[in-house]
Amino acid sequence: MVTLDVGELQIEAFSIGGVETCYQIPALDVCLDIGRCPPGAERRAVLLLTHAHIDHAAGLPYYVSMRGLSNLTPPRVYCPAADREGLQSVLDAWSRLQTDSARCRLVGVKPGDEIRLPRDHVARPFRSIHRISTVGYTIFSQRRKLKQALHGLDGPEIARRARAGETVNEIHERAELCFPGDTRIEVVDREPTVRTARVLLLECTFVGPDVTVDKARRSGHVHLDQIAERADLFDNEHIVLTHFSRRHSPEHIKAEADRRLPASLRSRVHLLLHESVIEKERSNSAAR
Ligand SMILES: [Zn+2]
Repeated sequence: MVTLDVGELQIEAFSIGGVETCYQIPALDVCLDIGRCPPGAERRAVLLLTHAHIDHAAGLPYYVSMRGLSNLTPPRVYCPAADREGLQSVLDAWSRLQTDSARCRLVGVKPGDEIRLPRDHVARPFRSIHRISTVGYTIFSQRRKLKQALHGLDGPEIARRARAGETVNEIHERAELCFPGDTRIEVVDREPTVRTARVLLLECTFVGPDVTVDKARRSGHVHLDQIAERADLFDNEHIVLTHFSRRHSPEHIKAEADRRLPASLRSRVHLLLHESVIEKERSNSAAR
């Protein structure tokens, strides 16, 4: 687990492609994907699942069960609408095996839906482009501000209008964080908040010449070279590149990022590297 301090958010992050992906945002009481349910994830009351690949979703029954065992409220879990039935049947099967009732509110979502989060935040799903049905999520902060047209009026007058039923405030939104999940690069072109959110968690499964861009595309993933080609599109304050394949060593990933990304982008890019874990995973897979 790596703690990222990005924007105004702290994120407890773990993501290695094909192994496990889970991000916890304690301030918003939310997990983005659940991986194998890493320690502490059960404390988050809301789970936003991007898709049902096992490295992103296998921990769901464990997460729901651990919340029950810890006397925490049943979680709200959101997933692509197409996956709801399948995931519910996994939960139901495990409940039968354990002869208890794993309680959770499982909701299928589609683009255009809105999910309320704590501290005046909302999450909105959008369509990502992967090998199976996948949604990304953008988290917005909302702040109530006096309507522009009423600027200049004094306090008592504004209060009088509010009492008379006039709407005196308007909501200002800011895209704080965007997480497309597993995706092809085209999501950058299609979904505006991928380019504008203050923090972008973007998968970059492959780097360097060992895996071609074409192969990355066919597997439904992003190659670093495709991010470099689009360097001018990203307006984000922080871009966290994640979900690196375990075939790449941390040194190789760093060297490729330094070599391929222009300085204007590289200076805003964080690489989510789990150095010791990746080395262990690499030696395990070499031994198999
Ligand atoms: Zn996937």
